[in-house]
Order: sequence, then structure tokens, then C-alpha cells
Amino acid sequence: VSRERLHRVLIALGGNAIAGPSSHDPASQQAAIARAMEQVAEVIAEGYEVALTHGNGPQVGDRLLINELAGDAVAPAPLDWCVAETQATLGYLIANALEHALRTRGIERLAVPVITRVLVDPDDPAWKSPTKPVGEFTSKEDVVERIRAGEAWGPQGERGWRRLVPSPEPRQIVDEAVIQRLVDDGTVVVVAGGGGGIPMVTANGGRCGAEAVLDKDLTGALLAAAIGAECFLIATDVPAAAVNFGSRSQEWVGHVAPEELRLLVGEGHFASGSMAPKVEAALRFVENGGGRAVITSLDRLSDALLGGAGTVVESHPLPAA
Ligand code: ADP
Ligand code: MG
Repeated sequence: VSRERLHRVLIALGGNAIAGPSSHDPASQQAAIARAMEQVAEVIAEGYEVALTHGNGPQVGDRLLINELAGDAVAPAPLDWCVAETQATLGYLIANALEHALRTRGIERLAVPVITRVLVDPDDPAWKSPTKPVGEFTSKEDVVERIRAGEAWGPQGERGWRRLVPSPEPRQIVDEAVIQRLVDDGTVVVVAGGGGGIPMVTANGGRCGAEAVLDKDLTGALLAAAIGAECFLIATDVPAAAVNFGSRSQEWVGHVAPEELRLLVGEGHFASGSMAPKVEAALRFVENGGGRAVITSLDRLSDALLGGAGTVVESHPLPAA
């Protein structure tokens, strides 16, 4: 595959890759983002046209904790506001770090974060069964009141209970045309669709924000198609998707055709809420006419673009580079 064919790339950065290991204090988040942007800058310096999207799981969790702890003094922010806030803050930090990393490579270019809204279906079955855990772990006793008040909470293993919110399918990026124009302009690095986008539904001829969080990988697939990316690169904290993950017979999936990967999905190899949405997003991008989707770790970005690392989903798999 020639460089030309993979000229435009959408890179989706995992929320964890830009949050730092455990503590989310400003210094460690900035350090984590700086590390990630070194990798992204390297790819841009190689001549690729890059747009970015990113997760916000840890950050939106922190925002919800503020809602909880400060609720008596400041009215709690609805979920769509929380997503908007994390898009703005992370977009700001990413822009600063990326511009700096580019400048040290002799490239003077601005990064432009776009507050991105995404339409979801008011009839999505996800509204009836909140499945996406957000925020802090807590004990069942502490949430009885909140369940009574209408929130969904559920047990999440040994660490306790977590709030569950709906995660409907991202259907359409409201700000798509603007994002497209900015990417086509080619003079800035666009950061869009953070945290999967701000969920909205159409209502009474307008739009209003919805109490949900979207999956950044699924929104990433829409975004990659919208900007005409030849490659959709999902950067996370494992080198690839694996079959029999975490067991002794674990094997990384390398080059794979979409039909074959669908079969592996059917066999249940990919955990819901983490690897399953990445695999689904990669499949959608390729099945809808995209060139190549890659799932790999942040430190393998450059190799992945040449098809030499990660799980590489392509209609006509090539031998490993
Ligand atoms: P991100 O913040 O990048 O979205 P996630 O935690 O959502 O990261 O997803 C990546 C995680 O998915 C990995 O750290 C790994 O623990 C988990 N995972 C679950 N199933 C698999 C699998 N089959 N192959 C690889 N990783 C898997
Ligand atoms: Mg994730």
C-alpha cells in the first residue's frame, strides 16, 4: 500500500492513554497528553494528514464526582454538559501539547478543537437499558436514594456499584460539514468528536441534549468516513485485539478480512464496553467502503499506518510488512 493511499488518517485516542495511569490531577493528565502528542506529531511529520478524536471516560467520571460532592452548592450539570466540558478541556490540552510537539519538529501548525454534537435516535433500545458504567465505584447503601430518584446503578464486580447510563448508537454528526471543511483546508489539525460527541436528539423541530454518553470508537467510525479518511486508527493500551484474551491460548489478531473478524465477534472474543466497540467500529468503517482500520497501541502508530502493527482490518488483507 502506498503512502498516497493512506494520506488522510483519523486517529482515535483512548481515554486512558490521555489520562495517565491512576491519578487524574492536571500535571499527570498534561504529561500523558504530551506523551500521546509526541506520537501523533511524529505521524504528521511523516507527511500524513491527521485528524484526531479522543475518549473522555476518566475525565467525565471526575466531572460526575464533582456533581455528587458539590451538588448542594452548585446545581449538578446534566451529562451532555459534562461531555461538552471534557471536550473543551481535553481539546485545549491536546491543542497545546500537539502544537508544541509539532513546533519541536519544525512544523508551525495550529490544532483546532471542535465542540462536536452527535444525533442519537430517541427510539434507540439503549434508552430502556442503561449499560455504560460511569463515574466512581460506591457501595449499594450509598446509592439507594439516587436509584429512588430515577438513576440506574448496578454492581460492577468487587469494587462496588457504579452508575449506569444509556449509550445509544451515534447516528449523525451535527457538525460534520464544518469538520469536513476544516480538515480539507489542510492548514490546521482538527480535534473532533471527543468522548464520542455530545449526545442530542431532535425534538420539536430543534435539537436538545440527552442524558447519555456515546462510544468514542463508534463515533470515530462516522467521523473517519465523514472526512474521507483512508485509514481509521484506534490507539489504545494493547498492541492489538486478541482471541482468547487473557488466557493461555491468547493470540493477537493481525491482518484480517472483515468477514473473518465478524466470525470472531460472533465467537465472543471481544469484551463489551472495551474491545468490542473498537472491533465493531473498525468493521463498520471498512464495510462502509473505508480503506483500512487498525487497532493498536499508541506507541505503534507509525508502524500501524504502514500495516505493520496491530489488528489490521482490510477487505484484501496484505501479508504483514
Ligand atoms: P480505551 O480507553 O483505549 O478505549 P478500553 O479500556 O476501552 O481502552 O479498551 C482497551 C482494553 O480492552 C484493553 O486494555 C484490554 O484490557 C481490553 N480487552 C478486552 N477484550 C480484549 C481482547 N479480546 N483483545 C484485546 N484487549 C481486550
Ligand atoms: Mg474505551
